[in-house]
Amino acid sequence: MLKLLPYLIILTLFQCTTIGFHETKIREGISFGENTNFRVCVLREPDITTKETEELFSAWNEELSLYNLKAEPILLDVIERPGFWGTDILGYLMSLPLTKDCDRLVYLKGRTWGDITFEVLTLGLFVGVGLKLEVQGAVEGQTNTRGYIKAKYISTIQILFTSPKSTLIHEGYHLLGCGHQLFMKECYEKIRNVKLLLTDQSRDPNFFPVITTTGKKILTREETLIYFNKD
Ligand SMILES: [Zn+2]
Repeated sequence: MLKLLPYLIILTLFQCTTIGFHETKIREGISFGENTNFRVCVLREPDITTKETEELFSAWNEELSLYNLKAEPILLDVIERPGFWGTDILGYLMSLPLTKDCDRLVYLKGRTWGDITFEVLTLGLFVGVGLKLEVQGAVEGQTNTRGYIKAKYISTIQILFTSPKSTLIHEGYHLLGCGHQLFMKECYEKIRNVKLLLTDQSRDPNFFPVITTTGKKILTREETLIYFNKD
């Protein structure tokens, strides 16, 4: 246990920026199959540029290449934020169907004066109690197909701990069904299992499947909406 202590401390510090520690040897022993692309629909706020979007995806794709995967961004729309809180954004994303043959939906959140004020207000709390109120990004846990990241931030404290690129990489793992773990083995196996689903007969051949963090297999685009049509 003592051996794990430094990892636990780092994990607590980095919270939702570290999905787990890489285990290179284990990863290299796993076969991730053929190169596969999946399509990620992007909604972005007006202050996020095309160049920034491209840079984010190229950082994510560098990580994804470990698994012979590639995320193809498809710009869906430039929109104003549907609400101030992360939960507002997630709720909005969950109400949208996956169109344009998209497999995942990602919202790139910008930085407004309201955000800056909020950052200043929460800075004291962060320093004082070590609380991090600002959430850098999140993926809904029902289908693991929709999520958002703060795509633009340059605030002092944030940059010490995280960046938009590392946030996208982190949330990107959630979009593949991974949860948080101390070491990555479980996540590698999840990604391998998701790729194995590509040969599943009942899969929509045009949809990149997902296994949710709770283990549910989602093989068609329609299934990603099932939970929201209940009412
Ligand atoms: Zn996370």
